[in-house]
Amino acid sequence: MLTLDRHPSGRHFLQIPGPSPVPDRILRAMSLPTIDHRGPEFGEIGLELLGKIQRIFKTEHPVIIYPASGTGAWEAALANTMSPGDAVLMFETGHFASLWRQMARRLGLEPEFIELDEAQRWRYGVQADRIEARLREDREHRLKAVCVVHNETSTGVTSDIAAVRRAIDAAGHPALLMVDTISGLASADYRHDEWGVDVTVSGSQKGLMLPPGISFNALSPKAMERSKRATLPRSFWAWDEILAANATGYWPYTPNTNLLYGLNESLDMLLDEGLDNVFARHERWGEGVRRAVHAWGLAIQCQEPALYSPVLTGVVMPEEIDADQVRRTIYERFDLSLGTGLGRAKGRMFRIGHLGDCNDLTLIATLGGCEAGLKLCGVELFGSGMQAALEFFADNPAPGTPANPNASRDR
Ligand SMILES: *Cc1c(COP(=O)(O)O)cnc(C)c1O
Repeated sequence: MLTLDRHPSGRHFLQIPGPSPVPDRILRAMSLPTIDHRGPEFGEIGLELLGKIQRIFKTEHPVIIYPASGTGAWEAALANTMSPGDAVLMFETGHFASLWRQMARRLGLEPEFIELDEAQRWRYGVQADRIEARLREDREHRLKAVCVVHNETSTGVTSDIAAVRRAIDAAGHPALLMVDTISGLASADYRHDEWGVDVTVSGSQKGLMLPPGISFNALSPKAMERSKRATLPRSFWAWDEILAANATGYWPYTPNTNLLYGLNESLDMLLDEGLDNVFARHERWGEGVRRAVHAWGLAIQCQEPALYSPVLTGVVMPEEIDADQVRRTIYERFDLSLGTGLGRAKGRMFRIGHLGDCNDLTLIATLGGCEAGLKLCGVELFGSGMQAALEFFADNPAPGTPANPNASRDR
């Protein structure tokens, strides 16, 4: 429960990279009465939703919706397509890639991890040439899938998914391409069909601006075909039963009714705005936040500007500073939540989320809280990041905002 002493007045600033702040419009949609999930009304909503969600993944093939967190959709992707002992190739982009590998092991698969050297680890994206080289070696086609994370939420580094597809094709290898875009979808450009992805995994509580609780598998015909021969046990996650029920807008078991109302609203908001505008909005916010970090004189976790995440920024602390102490101070003093460093980044960095229901001034306030908290914790800053971001936002208005009124006064 939110207690009054922690959140005395105003809005709590939830600037973690998921769950993201949920717009009031979505909360209102979710507050409608729960209806019969086998009744006639529900089937209509179901069909509408299943159609609209395809446009977000940019696919003409089915998208499965699970009443589960993103981790469940990872399991579904593997359980539906793999058989016990299958080898899968993964790339260590960060904490979430590592968790996916751990899951593959627990499911009885044999994950093989491509890792970067110590200086590069967790700071770069997937290197498609290394995937291609490994696949070329695999002449007996033991590797059944290549699994990569599109937007590594633990680091703020994205990966070029189209390049991974090209690598698989160049090697002439039949492995499936599976992509986790749990935190990338509906914030960063994503194209399931065009990029030749076989299974895309995503979730509700990041770019889709919903509370946690639903997740997705977008499929390809090849993945559906493969699932017929795959023998890992699966029941709750089984695509075939869900696809059969989805044909008329229903689910084989009770779906997450009120979250689906929220999803319907979210999809309307995103599609009305236009996905290109949504992506541009996040790019612009990301740029503003990075200007702030540079103005402070601090380092960004991502080392390759072309791969900067539009969803979050990982801010690296000077050696002697405990990032979690900084986070705690900011939370206690300013009611602002930032993402913690995960796994091997624990205590080394904090993460600023720039997704969900926010705007320029939410981010300015967020950066103001960070700036004050950093100073309170004894971090020496070159200059004001908040000021740098404010200037960037002021000088680069969001598309569609009215021009500077001073300009019209000159007429
Ligand atoms: C959030 C996230 C997950 C985990 O999703 P849950 O909903 O917490 O199960 C996995 N991968 C990435 C890239 C994420 O951002």
